Amino acid sequence: MTVLNRTDTLADDLAARIIDSPAGYTGIDGDEQWAAEVRRLAQLRNATILAHNYQLPAIQDVANHVGDSLALSRIAADASEDTIVFCGVHFMAETAKILSPQKTVLIPDQRAGCSLADSITAEDLQAWKDEHPGAVVVSYVNTSAAVKALTDICCTSSNAVDVVNSIDPDREVLFCPDQFLGAHARRMTGRENLHVWAGECHVHAGINGDELAGQARSHPDAELYVHPECGCATSALYLAGEGAFPQERVKILSTGGMLDAARATHARQVLVATEVGMLYQLRRAAPGVDFQAVNDRASCKYMKMITPAALLRCLLDGVDEVDVDPETSQRARRSVQRMIEIGQPGGGE
Ligand code: SF4
Repeated sequence: MTVLNRTDTLADDLAARIIDSPAGYTGIDGDEQWAAEVRRLAQLRNATILAHNYQLPAIQDVANHVGDSLALSRIAADASEDTIVFCGVHFMAETAKILSPQKTVLIPDQRAGCSLADSITAEDLQAWKDEHPGAVVVSYVNTSAAVKALTDICCTSSNAVDVVNSIDPDREVLFCPDQFLGAHARRMTGRENLHVWAGECHVHAGINGDELAGQARSHPDAELYVHPECGCATSALYLAGEGAFPQERVKILSTGGMLDAARATHARQVLVATEVGMLYQLRRAAPGVDFQAVNDRASCKYMKMITPAALLRCLLDGVDEVDVDPETSQRARRSVQRMIEIGQPGGGE
C-alpha cells in the first residue's frame, strides 16, 4: 500500500472532511475541486479509474472509462497503468484482479458487496456439489472469486442458454446463484436435469409481473429496455418472456446496445428495467426521449457506496486493495475464460 505525501496538496483539507459511516464514506461533494484533485492523485499513482454504469454521476464523470463489468475488466487487463481503481462492487474488482493478476486493483470501499453474489458461498457450493457428484456447475458472473474457482463455466445472462446447451444433455447441471436467470435457462433449454440455486438480488424484488403488466397498460406507446446482465433485471427478463409486457415492445439490450437504441428510437417514452444509475447515461444520449425506471426504487445501495469521499480516500491512501490468492485466481480464470468462449457473453452486469 502506497500512502502519498499530502503536504503539498489540497488533500489534507479534503481528507479531514471524510466521515466514515456504515453506509459508506461521506463529507465530500463531487464538485470541480474534488474532480481536479482526484485526477491529479490518479496521475501521481499511475492509476486509471474505471466506473460501472450504475455509479453516481460524479463518479462516472471523473472516471477514465465507464462501462459494464466485463468490458471494464478487459480494459483493466489492457491498461498501461499499473494500478486500477475499480468503482463498482467487490466481485467486479475481483474479476478485474483475476484477469490482471500482476496489477494493483483498488476498490474505493470494500464494503460494496452484492446481495446476489452473497447468496451463495464457496462452502454452500461445495456442499451442493457433494450432493450431485458429476454435475457441471454454471455460475453467473455475479459471484465471488472463491465460487468461480469451484465453477466449471461462468455465464452472463446473454450466453446462459448457450452455456447450458454446450453441456452434455445427460449430465446434471447446477446453476447458481440467480433463480430468475436459472429459471429462464431451464425454460429455454427444456432441461429437466438443471438445478437452480434460490438466490436473488435485493434490487429486483420490486419488479414483479403485475407491476410490469400495469406499466404496459398505462404506457401504451412506450418501449421496454431490459438490461439482461444485471441481477436487478433478471426478473423482468423472465416476466417479459412470460408475456407480462407485449413482446414487440421489449428490447433486451446490453448497456452499449441501450445507448445505441436510445439514439435511434422513435418512441417518445422508454421504460428501463435496470438499476436507476443507467438513466443518467440514457438521458444524456437522447435528451428528447422520456426515460422512466420500471422501478424507481431499483437503486443498488452497494453501488452507491462508491462516493466522492470514498474515491478520494482510495487515491490518497492506496486502499482498499483487492487480492485473490493465486490458486483461486487460476481456477476462477479458467471458468471465466470458458464463459468468454461460448456464444455472445455480452458485457457482464
Ligand atoms: S444491483 Fe443487485 S446484482 Fe447488481 S450489484 Fe447491486 S445487489 Fe448485486
